[in-house]
Amino acid sequence: MVELTAPVRSVVGDRTAKELGARLGVHTVEDLLRHYPRRYYERGELTDLSSLRPGEQVTIQATVVSASGHRIRPKLHKLDVVVTDGRSKLTLTFFNKHWLADRLPAGTEALFAGKVEVFRGRRSLTNPEVHVGDADSFAGALQPVYPASAKLASWQVEKSIATVLDLVDAVPDPLPDAVREHRGLLPLSAALRLVHRPGDRSDVRRAQQRLRFDEAFLLQVVLARRRAEAAGLPATPRVPADDGLVSAFDARLPFRLTDGQHEVAGEIAADLARTRPMHRLLQGEVGSGKTVVALRAMLTVVDSGGQAALLAPTEVLAQQHHRSVTAMLGPLAERGLLGGSEEGTRVVLLTGSQSTAARRRSLLDVASGEAGIVIGTHALIQDAVDFFDLGLVVVDEQHRFGVEQRDALRAKATVPPHVLVMTATPIPRTVAMTVFGDLDVSTLTELPAGRTPITSHLVPVGEKPHFLDRAWERIREEVAAGHQAYVVCPRIGQVDGSDADGEEPADGPDLQVVPDPETEPALRPAVAVLEVAPSLIEGPLAGLRVEMLHGRMPSEAKDDVMSRFASGAVDVLVATTVIEVGVDVPNATAMVVLDADRFGVSQLHQLRGRVGRGEAPGLCLLVTDTEAGTPARDRLAAVAATQDGFELSRVDLETRREGDVLGATQSGRRSSLRLLSVLRDEPVIVAAREDATALVDRDPHLFANAELRHAVDALLADERSDYLEKA
Ligand code: ADP
Ligand code: MG
Repeated sequence: MVELTAPVRSVVGDRTAKELGARLGVHTVEDLLRHYPRRYYERGELTDLSSLRPGEQVTIQATVVSASGHRIRPKLHKLDVVVTDGRSKLTLTFFNKHWLADRLPAGTEALFAGKVEVFRGRRSLTNPEVHVGDADSFAGALQPVYPASAKLASWQVEKSIATVLDLVDAVPDPLPDAVREHRGLLPLSAALRLVHRPGDRSDVRRAQQRLRFDEAFLLQVVLARRRAEAAGLPATPRVPADDGLVSAFDARLPFRLTDGQHEVAGEIAADLARTRPMHRLLQGEVGSGKTVVALRAMLTVVDSGGQAALLAPTEVLAQQHHRSVTAMLGPLAERGLLGGSEEGTRVVLLTGSQSTAARRRSLLDVASGEAGIVIGTHALIQDAVDFFDLGLVVVDEQHRFGVEQRDALRAKATVPPHVLVMTATPIPRTVAMTVFGDLDVSTLTELPAGRTPITSHLVPVGEKPHFLDRAWERIREEVAAGHQAYVVCPRIGQVDGSDADGEEPADGPDLQVVPDPETEPALRPAVAVLEVAPSLIEGPLAGLRVEMLHGRMPSEAKDDVMSRFASGAVDVLVATTVIEVGVDVPNATAMVVLDADRFGVSQLHQLRGRVGRGEAPGLCLLVTDTEAGTPARDRLAAVAATQDGFELSRVDLETRREGDVLGATQSGRRSSLRLLSVLRDEPVIVAAREDATALVDRDPHLFANAELRHAVDALLADERSDYLEKA
C-alpha cells in the first residue's frame, strides 16, 4: 500500500506530479488528500458570471448559447463559444480547436477552466479547458471544484485524488476523542471522504466543520503551549523609582496623556511589576501615542536599574526613533554630559551601517549599563551586542520581527526580559486570537485631542487626467503656505540597470496585498522615485526644493535627507514606503500617492498617517488609473472614505485570499489554514481555543496524545518560517 508520506509521483504521472507540486503545493499523498475542493456545483447550478474578476484563474459551470468558428489565417482557426449563467454572457475563445464545436452544441452544460481576461472591455476566457460531464457522474451528486492551475484543471486534480481516496482510513486523527464527541464532530476519515465525495450539501457542511475545527485546534494548541511556556519563565519585576525618570518625564511632557494612554500605561506597569515576563501587543492607530507609552515603560525599567531596547524594522525608523526619543527626554537623556540631568540616562543608537568607531562606543555604553535605552535595527540582535541588564524589549511594527528574533534578543538577558510589541495596523479580534494568540493585547482607540483630521481624495487620472495637474497645484499651495509634502511611489526605479527592492520593506501578514503572479493581471510597471523626482523638478514642481528618499540610498544619505526634511530645508520628499511607519514631521501636510492601487489598504492608511501630525489639517491624494468598478478602485474608494483603521483592516482582509491574511503565500507553499477563515469563523476559533487551553493545562507536553504531538510538530516545522514566526 502507498504510504501517506509517499511523493505524489508514486500515484500520478510525472507531468501532473510536477504541476501539483509547483503550482498547488501538493507534494505527498497526504497533501493530495488534504487538497480540499474550493466549492461544489450541483447539476444545473451555474456560476454567477458577473462575479468573475479579471486575472482570476476560474472554474465555471455554464450553459452553451452558441458556437461559431472561422478561419482567420490559413493555419489559424478561431472558435467563439458564448456561454451564459441565465443572466450574463461570457465569450470563450478557442484557437485551432474547431472540433470542440461538435462537443458543445447549444444547451450543453459544462465546466470551463481558464484565466479571466478583458478584451475590448469584455471579459473572456482564451483556450479554457473544457469538461463536459457525462450524464451519470453528475446524477444526484455534487461536482467538486478544486483549486487548480492553468495547466491542471479541477477535474484532473479530482482524478488524482480519486487514486488515493482509499487511504483516508490511514490518516492519523490528532483530535482527542473526548473533544470530538463534545463538539459533535465527524471522525477524520469520514470527514476526508465526504469533503471529496459528498452526497449532498449537509455532507459538505459536516465534513468542513470537522476539518475546520482541526485547523483551529492545532493552531490553538501551539499557542496555548507557547503561553504556558512563557508563563513558566522567571522575570525581574520592574517598578518606577519615587521621583525617578518616569515622574521627571511626566513633568516634562508638553501635553496630558489621554485616558486611553493612562489605561494602557497602567496595564503595562502592572505587567512589568510581575515576576514573569510581560508579552503584550500594543495596537493603536498611527499617531495614537504608542511611542510615548512605550517610552514610559522603558523609563520604568531604567528607574529600576535595568535597560530597555527598542527595535525598529528599518534604519530610517531607528534613526527617527533615536531623534524623537532623545528630543522627548531632553536633559533626561544626557547623563554625564554638561548640563545633563544627574538622574538621567543615555540613549544610544545601534545600526548595521554605523561607523566602526560609533558602533564601538555604543556597544561599550550598552555593555557597561551607561546607556539605559538602546535603539536599533536587527543589528541589536547580533551576537556582539552585550547588555548589562536588559529588562525590556520594545518591538515597533511587530510584523517584521519573528518569534525567533524575539527569542534571540531574549537570550541576551540573564533573566528573560519583558516584551512589548507595537503595531499601528489594527487587528480584528479573531486574527489577534489566531496570529497573536500568545500575546496579551492593549489597544489605544482615541487619537490625542487637537489632532487634525486627514482629508483623502481619489484622483482618477484614467477618466480625469487634468486632476493630476490640480494635485501638483495643491502641493505648490501647501508649500507656499509654509508646509511640506510627500510624494510616494511604489518603486525605486532603475539605477545601472538594477531594480532590486533594496530596503523597501517586505511586508508581513497584515500589510500590503501581495500580487499573486497566478491570478493578478499583468500591469505596466509602477511609477518609480528615480523617474518621478526629476520629472517633477523639471515640470510641475519646478523651483521647489524636491529630494528623494528610498531604501537603496546609503544610510548617511537617507539620514541627511530625513533630517533636512525634518528641519524644513526640503519642501517635497519623493519617497518609497520607507516613510511608511514612524516618520514624524508635523509640518508635512500633504501627500500624493502615485499608483495608489499598488499599495494595500492598511499600507495606504499607514502612509497617510505621515501627514496631519501637526496643527494644520492633512491632505492625502490617491492617484490611480484603475477603472471605476474594479476591486482595486473600490479598495481605494474605501480608504478615501474612512479614517477608521479597524474598518479599513476589515476591508483589507476581506479583499484577500485567506492565506494572505496569515502570511504572504509564496507560490508552491500552502498555509495550514485551508478551510478556516480567521475572519468569519470566530465561534470555531473560540471553541478550539477553549479546548486547546484545557488540554494543554492538563498535559503541556501532549504525552497522552502522540498523534496530536506529531501534528503540532509537523505544523511548527512547516510554518516555522511562515506566519507563526511573524507573530
Ligand atoms: P504612534 O507611535 O502611536 O504613532 P506617537 O507616540 O509617535 O504615536 O505620537 C504621535 C505624536 O503625538 C507625537 O508627536 C507625540 O508627541 C504626540 N502625542 C502623543 N501623545 C499625546 C497626547 N496625549 N496629547 C498630545 N499629543 C500627543
Ligand atoms: Mg510610532
